[in-house]
Amino acid sequence: MNRFRSRGVLSPLLALLLALAGALPVSIAQARPRIPARRAITKASQSPRPRLVLLIVVDQFRYDYLSRFGDLFGSRGIGRLMRAGASWTEANFDHVPTFTAPGHAVFMTGASPSQTGIVANEWYERETGRKVKSITDDSTMMLGGKPNEKGKSPRRLLCSTVGDELRLADGDRSKVIGISAKDRSAILPAGRRANAAYWFSTDNGNIISGTYYFEHLPEWVVRFNNRHMADALFGVRWDRLLPNEAEYLRRAGRDDVPWENLDKSSADTNFFPHVVTGGSAAPDKPFYRALDYTPFSNDLLVAFAEEAIANERLGAGDATDLLSVSFSANDYVGHRFGPYSQEAMDMTLRVDRQIGKLLDFVDSRVGLGNTIVIFTADHGASPVPEQAALLNLAGRRYQKADLLKVAEEGLQARYARKDRPATDYIQTFQNRDETEQGLLNSNFYLNRRALQRDGIDLDEAERVLGEAVLKLPGVARYFTRRQLENNSISPADPVARRVLHGFYSQRSGDVIIVYEPYAIQFDPPDDPTDPHSSATHGSPYSYDTHVPLIIMGRDFASGRYTQAAAPTDIAPTLAHVLGLEAPSCSVGRVLAEALTAARQSKVR
Ligand SMILES: [Zn+2]
Repeated sequence: MNRFRSRGVLSPLLALLLALAGALPVSIAQARPRIPARRAITKASQSPRPRLVLLIVVDQFRYDYLSRFGDLFGSRGIGRLMRAGASWTEANFDHVPTFTAPGHAVFMTGASPSQTGIVANEWYERETGRKVKSITDDSTMMLGGKPNEKGKSPRRLLCSTVGDELRLADGDRSKVIGISAKDRSAILPAGRRANAAYWFSTDNGNIISGTYYFEHLPEWVVRFNNRHMADALFGVRWDRLLPNEAEYLRRAGRDDVPWENLDKSSADTNFFPHVVTGGSAAPDKPFYRALDYTPFSNDLLVAFAEEAIANERLGAGDATDLLSVSFSANDYVGHRFGPYSQEAMDMTLRVDRQIGKLLDFVDSRVGLGNTIVIFTADHGASPVPEQAALLNLAGRRYQKADLLKVAEEGLQARYARKDRPATDYIQTFQNRDETEQGLLNSNFYLNRRALQRDGIDLDEAERVLGEAVLKLPGVARYFTRRQLENNSISPADPVARRVLHGFYSQRSGDVIIVYEPYAIQFDPPDDPTDPHSSATHGSPYSYDTHVPLIIMGRDFASGRYTQAAAPTDIAPTLAHVLGLEAPSCSVGRVLAEALTAARQSKVR
C-alpha cells in the first residue's frame, strides 16, 4: 500500500514510485529479463550447495523493533524471516564503539575491531598525522562520482571475509558484491577480494564505486545511473505507511516533539508529511542528502540490488555467490528523530516491505531454497537525551569541547610549571585544511613527543587525563592504553571486555572514555552544513549492542533460540555450512543449536 503522495507531481514520478514499491511492472522491470514463476522452498528445486548467500543489514535496527513493531510486519519481509528463519533473541555486539564501520566489519569476518582494525568510522592516523575514514584509500579513484575524487577501498580491513574465503576456495568462480547507501557499509562486508562494492553519491545522485574493483563502472551500472531515479524523487512526500496515526501514537508517541531538533540544514519539519527537496529548487547535493533521510533511498537500494542480481547473474551458476545489502536510511532517520519516534517506526515498517520485495525477487530468480539469508544490524541506538531526561532516565549530551576542557585542565593542574606550560599534551591532527584536537570516538590521543620532551611518563599522563575526565558528571569509566595492552582487563567485566575488543593499538587513542547509560557525545560533522544528530549510538549498553540475528536457509531449523550469540558468530557458521575455511580472524562460534538434524549428521 502506498501512502506517499506526490505534491502536484506528474504521472511518470507516480509510476516510478509504484514500480519502486513493486506495484507496477514498469520502468526498472522493463529492462530486466522475464522472471520465472515463484518457486516454493522445496527439496526438488535445491541445488547441491547454496547458490546465494544474502546478507541483509538494516543500519541502527534495534532488537526491540521486532517486538515493538513485529505484529505490523507483512508476510514477505522481516515477518517471513522471523517465521521461517532461526532467530537469536540474545545477540549482542561485544565491542565498543558500536558504530557502523566496526559493526559492518564484524559480520563476514567473525572478528572484533581489535582484529579487523576497523575501530571506528574514522580515526586519527598517527603515522600521517591526519584523520582517516575506515575506507579511505588515496591510491584509488572514485568511479561515477565527482571527477578526480580519491577513492575508497577495504585496504584497512585486516581480516578475510566469507566472500574472500569463497573466492579463495573455488578459484574466484564465486561472485561477491556489496551494496549500500554508505560506502563503508558496502565495502566492508564484501571484503578485500570482492568483485565490487557500490554505494550512493550525495554529490550527484549516482550509484558509484572505485578503481579498487575495476577501471570502469560496469555497463549495467551506467545504464542504471542514466535513468536518474533519484532525481525523479525530487519533491516526493513521505507520509505514514499506515493510514491511522493512532497506531503510531500508541507505539511511538507524539509526532511533533521538541527534542526532534532539526537543524536548519535539513530544510524539513519534525512531523509528517516530510517533503523531500533539501530546500532546493531542483535536484542537487542538499536534495540527495535529504533523500538519505527518507525511505525512498532504501527503495533505490532495492531497485539497484535487483539489477545487480539480474545483470551479474548472482545465484545462477553452480558456485555460491554472496550479496550484501545494507539499508542506511534507517540510521539517518534514527539519528534525526530517535528510536522512539513515529519516523523511526515508519522506517521500520517500510524496510520490512522493502526487504519483502527483495526476498520475493531472490525467490523468483534463485529460489529461497537455494539461498541462505542473514538478517542483522550493525548497532542499535539510544533515545534522544532530552527525551530520556524527561522520562527520568539519565539522558545527557556532551560536546567535544566539554571533554577537552576538563582533560586539558587536569593535565595542566598536574604538570604545568613556569618553564613548562603543558598546553600541548593532547595531540593535534590534520582534517582536510583544519587542525583539530585529538579526541575522537571518545578516544583521547596524547602527544607522545611533547610528553617525552617534558620528561613525563606516558602511563601516568594517561591516568591523570582519565581521572580529570572522570570528574565530569555522567562519565562512568576510563581505560588507558597501558591497561589494554598489558592484559590487565578482566573478561568477566563486560564493559572492559567490550572496550578491549574495540581497541587496536596502532589506530586507537591512549585514553578511552565510557559514559553512563543514556549519556552521549556526538562528534560534530566535518562539514558544518551537515546535519547534526539528535540521537546516536556507540556505547557498550544493550540499547546499542542488542541486535536481531536471523538466519533463514535449508541447513537451519526455524525457531527462536535463547542462547547467547553475537554477530561474530555469523561468519564461522556460514563457513561451516558452506564447507569453507573460517575467515582469517574468526573468533565466533558455530551456531550449532539451529543446524538441522540432517546438517548435523552430515558433519559427523
Ligand atoms: Zn549511525
